[in-house]
Amino acid sequence: MFQFQITSGNNRARTGVFTTPHGDLLTPVFAPVGTQATVKTLTPEHLKGINATLVLSNTYHLYLRPGDELVRDMGGLHKFMQWPRPMLTDSGGYQVFSLAQTRKIDDDGVTFKSHIDGSTHRFTPEKSVSIQENLGADIIMAFDECSDPNDHRYSKVAMERTHRWAERCLKAKTRPDQALFGIIQGGVDPDLRAASAEFIASLDTPGIAIGGLSVGETKAEMYAMLDVMQPFYPENKPRYLMGVGTPEDLINGVLRGIDIFDCVLPTRLARHHSAFASNGRLNLMNASFARDESPIDETCDCYTCRTFTRAYLRHLIVAKELLAGTLVSIHNLRALIRLMESIRGYVADGSFESRVPVLLQQWHGNAERVGKHKVAQDE
Ligand SMILES: [Zn+2]
Repeated sequence: MFQFQITSGNNRARTGVFTTPHGDLLTPVFAPVGTQATVKTLTPEHLKGINATLVLSNTYHLYLRPGDELVRDMGGLHKFMQWPRPMLTDSGGYQVFSLAQTRKIDDDGVTFKSHIDGSTHRFTPEKSVSIQENLGADIIMAFDECSDPNDHRYSKVAMERTHRWAERCLKAKTRPDQALFGIIQGGVDPDLRAASAEFIASLDTPGIAIGGLSVGETKAEMYAMLDVMQPFYPENKPRYLMGVGTPEDLINGVLRGIDIFDCVLPTRLARHHSAFASNGRLNLMNASFARDESPIDETCDCYTCRTFTRAYLRHLIVAKELLAGTLVSIHNLRALIRLMESIRGYVADGSFESRVPVLLQQWHGNAERVGKHKVAQDE
């Protein structure tokens, strides 16, 4: 049911087709984040209009509200939110470690208090799989523990626990129509990362996820870890770099053999009036746009850019109209999805590697990174 076919390669970068029960994913792919079973401010029709294929939703949030059993009884996540294309859920691990008010970790699982009402809950690997089976996404994640990347001792403990938990998740899984990915951890320690990549690859899951990056380490450290892990990935399985990232990170990730990305950045920026553009990010609140008749980006094919001026968008923002968030989200997501479409074309014609310096230069002014911790809380 889950087949991954590599269709072209350009050194470590590659294009592929990942077959899921809700359709084929052309990789490399960028997935918009729909934390609470909605990509904020957008309808499924908007998402189809920008050619989104994969949407991510968060296990921790949906378990707390409205509850995974309710989602199951409503026909599962696809039907509940009316998204007919492929979906992915995370394991809930990252949110428990970043959002929950208090948490107590032991070898069996994590007890935590809800950030919504302070009520007490417990996640184990088996519980995470059971919740994700109720939600019903196509791609699900093994329960993992994300450590502070700079704490070597804790990174080792968290990595070893993540490995044991991945084995338990695989045993607990019952649905054949879901692909469970194991998650590599190991902080920013090259030896731990290599050991974790080797172990997770040995589990023979249909895909490999890379967790614990873009959580406070430098970009150089993140790219170094991607280089360290690369020899251990199975060639014929998709690789998912969780929670990444900026346009610059997408380009650098594909260059290092990554196939799947997700990030809240485009929609989060949109709600703060910030738009991706070819000459650097625009703050649409800026007074200089008050009478600007041009679109956000002349080169963009999205509905917002084909229809509205910067002057109109600025007016909506100043007047605090909700439509502003929708229109800028459409543009920001389309910008990253279009970047991935062009990258797939460049990999296929063999020109990707030689184009990387120009692509990075072009996206340089959009490169600012948002700490993942902060992003998760904002969601
Ligand atoms: Zn646009």
